[in-house]
Amino acid sequence: MTIGVLALQGSFNEHLKGMHSLLFSLKALRKLGAKGVEVRKAEQLEGIRALIIPGGESTAMAKLAEYLNLFPALRKFVKSGKPVWGTCAGLIFLADRADGQKEGGQELVGGIDCKVHRNYFGSQLDSFEVEIPIPVLVAQEGGPETFRGVFIRAPAVVEVGPEVQVLAECRVMSSAKQTNQETVSEKFQPPFPPPPDGEVVVIALRQGNILGTAFHPELTADTRWHSFFLKMLGESSDSHAVAADSEDNN
Ligand code: GLN
Repeated sequence: MTIGVLALQGSFNEHLKGMHSLLFSLKALRKLGAKGVEVRKAEQLEGIRALIIPGGESTAMAKLAEYLNLFPALRKFVKSGKPVWGTCAGLIFLADRADGQKEGGQELVGGIDCKVHRNYFGSQLDSFEVEIPIPVLVAQEGGPETFRGVFIRAPAVVEVGPEVQVLAECRVMSSAKQTNQETVSEKFQPPFPPPPDGEVVVIALRQGNILGTAFHPELTADTRWHSFFLKMLGESSDSHAVAADSEDNN
């Protein structure tokens, strides 16, 4: 059982490390020979059971994917129903529609019926971390009631379609531009106008076997999102051992 991580640009190494430490702790997955691999070619998508598209820079990733003629194979993979998870730039890739782009836009893989704003929270200087309540993780694993969200030039989902399950939201608060408890930098500069105060945006969502997070779980030591994704894989595959073992080991 092989889990691919799209390795064109961005935080693919961090995803592989997170996935490996988790796979190592799960006995049944070790027995199945589960492993994470880098994916750079269309044919490598054939041999994998699930795919992670990391954070980074979605325009750069899109250019590389176009150059390598990866878009048709990525779309085919998403349509196949095998689990796919996009974090940050990866979420942008998986959205059906995107705002906040330069003229002409960029190619998207699509799959989630939603609209993302690519740089909703501002520029690199406006990156921030915040504790986010995420009921789906608490219900799955027990333990802490929040997850530390690392938002780096982060996108947000500003519209969702009827089939989308919203897993986490945050509210942009007051003129201090706070999201939940912590303050986002005041330094929004054109072309990144500040998000509207009081607006509630989606920062984690799922549609069928496609998962998207606007933040970077791979940059934390908390593996609950990777574990959640493995459970999606366990549910979608005929290998029930995946889900069962994951429960045994928590
Ligand atoms: N806003 C970035 C983009 O458009 C994504 C940032 C990230 O992945 N940390 O690609």
